Amino acid sequence: MPELPEVETVRRGLSPVMEGARITRAQVNRPDLRWPFPPDMSARLAGTRVERLRRRSKYILADLDTGESLLIHLGMSGRMLISGDPLGIFAHEHPAAEKHDHVVFDMDNGARITFNDPRRFGAMDLMPTATADLHPLLAKIGPEPLGNQFSENHLIGALRGRNMPVKSALLDQKIVAGLGNIYVCEALFRAGISPMRKAGRIAEKRVARLVPIIRDVLSEAIEAGGSSLRDFRQADGELGYFQHRFDVYGREGLKCRTEGCEGPVKRIVQSGRSSFFCGQCQR
Ligand SMILES: [Zn+2]
Repeated sequence: MPELPEVETVRRGLSPVMEGARITRAQVNRPDLRWPFPPDMSARLAGTRVERLRRRSKYILADLDTGESLLIHLGMSGRMLISGDPLGIFAHEHPAAEKHDHVVFDMDNGARITFNDPRRFGAMDLMPTATADLHPLLAKIGPEPLGNQFSENHLIGALRGRNMPVKSALLDQKIVAGLGNIYVCEALFRAGISPMRKAGRIAEKRVARLVPIIRDVLSEAIEAGGSSLRDFRQADGELGYFQHRFDVYGREGLKCRTEGCEGPVKRIVQSGRSSFFCGQCQR
């Protein structure tokens, strides 16, 4: 499932072919994905110019010159493909249409953007740009982890008195937006905090340390995504997933990467999701 760095990578990949360009045709091949598409989506998009592509949590927002914004969520398996770009950035021919190509945008610069999503947990919606923050998917989410509002004081306040494991608290989108399973595991490893520790029982100093660690973990992944974008220009035109080296995620039974630590990485299941950690380094 794409997490924040993957979504940011998709946004950065789409930006040169979408920002400032007009959607000449929006082909919508089915009535819904996870939810029904908004009424007349194709007609409301056709002819509009994309002023800006931004990201909020794991959502991409395309602000249009009509005063509406298009919200895009990749869901579990959504991917974006770019083809036929005349700017010379992405030199890919338009591929033959595939079974799960649900929405296709043709841009006036010649680029075609195809949203393919086999599991159909993705979503698209249209809303007035002015009130986009009030959209049901966006209204209740907390501060962006890479933004200024995600401060040490914010996190200390948000975890104070909480009886839940810190892992669950960091996955709570109201506390911090867009943080998912992988990067929570990685951040807790780097902070030396056990995922099972109760959120309210961690010294404030250690909670404060988590803030720059979370930012670093995400920034490094976004950087890895950036390198993947450079490769992708010569590859198959698909955006969204990239190889990244993790310290604990997916490394059950392998040796901990901390120098001098002999501990194996362990995996436990918390709220139905795997937590990877080192029992020696994380307390
Ligand atoms: Zn260790």
